Amino acid sequence: TKMTRETIMKDVKESNVRFLRLMFTDILGTVKNVEVPVSQLDKVLDGKMMFDGSSIEGFVRIQESDMYLKPDFDTWLVFTWETESTKKGRVARLICDIVNPDGTPFLGDPRNNLKRVLKEAKDLGYSSFNLGPEPEFFLLKLDENDEITERPNDNGGYFDLAPTDLAENCRRDIVLELEDLGFEIEASHHEVAPGQHEIDWKYADAVEACDNIQTFKLVVKTVARKYGLHATFMAKPVFGINGSGMHSNMSLFRNNENVFYDESDERQLSTEAYQFLAGLLHHAPAFTAITNPTVNSYKRLVPGYEAPVYIAWSGSNRTPMIRIPASRGMSTRLEVRSVDPMANPYLALAAMLKAGLDGITNEMTPPEETNDNIYDMDEAQLEQQGIKSLPTSLHSALKALKKNDVIKESLGNHIYTNFVKAKMVEWDSYKAAVSQWEKDNYLHLY
Ligand code: GLN
Ligand code: MG
Ligand code: MG
Ligand code: MG
Repeated sequence: TKMTRETIMKDVKESNVRFLRLMFTDILGTVKNVEVPVSQLDKVLDGKMMFDGSSIEGFVRIQESDMYLKPDFDTWLVFTWETESTKKGRVARLICDIVNPDGTPFLGDPRNNLKRVLKEAKDLGYSSFNLGPEPEFFLLKLDENDEITERPNDNGGYFDLAPTDLAENCRRDIVLELEDLGFEIEASHHEVAPGQHEIDWKYADAVEACDNIQTFKLVVKTVARKYGLHATFMAKPVFGINGSGMHSNMSLFRNNENVFYDESDERQLSTEAYQFLAGLLHHAPAFTAITNPTVNSYKRLVPGYEAPVYIAWSGSNRTPMIRIPASRGMSTRLEVRSVDPMANPYLALAAMLKAGLDGITNEMTPPEETNDNIYDMDEAQLEQQGIKSLPTSLHSALKALKKNDVIKESLGNHIYTNFVKAKMVEWDSYKAAVSQWEKDNYLHLY
């Protein structure tokens, strides 16, 4: 919705707003909040709220730490939920861009960075880049000390209607809450694994879609707590069952026309769609470090759990990394299935957009469609068909990223440097840790 200073002031009165939550996302994808009482409204709307950037991972050094929060008025939202403290009034939020003291956009801000890459798409004549995300998550029980357990809250399966299901009520509550906040929910269902769920909502232009993902996670976690549950977007929380992905449906528009659609093609896809697809496949090893950004992400990308393992595409088959869902016309889209919900959505989208645009600019051609079940192919068949696998660890994904100037460029120098630095620390720490698997397999043998 289009909001102005005046409509916000009016809503503050009408909805009895007492606190303002100023939100932004750090490089690692974590939502950060600065909460101020409504007495600060003018200062907030003027973009005069200051914070110390040096306390945010990967932002700035202490010497240059003053940063300003510039609210995006259109992200105004009054939270619906009541708590003890909200009895006196409600909490509203504004998503902010981060601005340097001289008024220029701070390049370490993932939201600013996505806008920068979107500008490149605009310069090529595209009016919007849309994302329809399908985030999956687990609802896990909390124990008597409110500690997170590995116990799912139900034993349901795909599209099950579990009868006594705590999850069903919780998920329904999440959906209602999201609808109150303006989400247009298209589907909500139990996923394959026990305790696993998916909620899908209407696609939106890139920045708004990423804002929605961040809001979505916050709502899911908040409502789950009310049911004594912990919601996790970790990619592979439990070994032996499916992990959680965030299939990303993408389309490019020019003047309200979906440029991926072309009636005359055998698959009704345009040349630009094939080129965008080719760019995604070409740059996949490098952007995987961003779309699958943790050590744990790679435990999901293994055969047998409906997650992609190979860099390939198909119109129908669900094992490859990219699928083209059947709908055409305005809904023509590419579904990237490798992305997981641990990704910083702003960075993931910037990287994938850049990859696709590079495919268009360089007129790339995608490889042949893969319609056989790739999980069933042996090394020789994969080799013969030229099918490569996605990086199998954070470390190899980072290596691919370091070698790819196009994807580095999609992050800009500031974010790239700080992202890789933080991720190498993560990898080094993981590399040295001794896991339960090693103890189980080696301790008694050697
Ligand atoms: N959970 C699967 C994944 O890891 C996806 C399952 C599905 O949506 N069909 O990507
Ligand atoms: Mg789905
Ligand atoms: Mg799913
Ligand atoms: Mg899907």
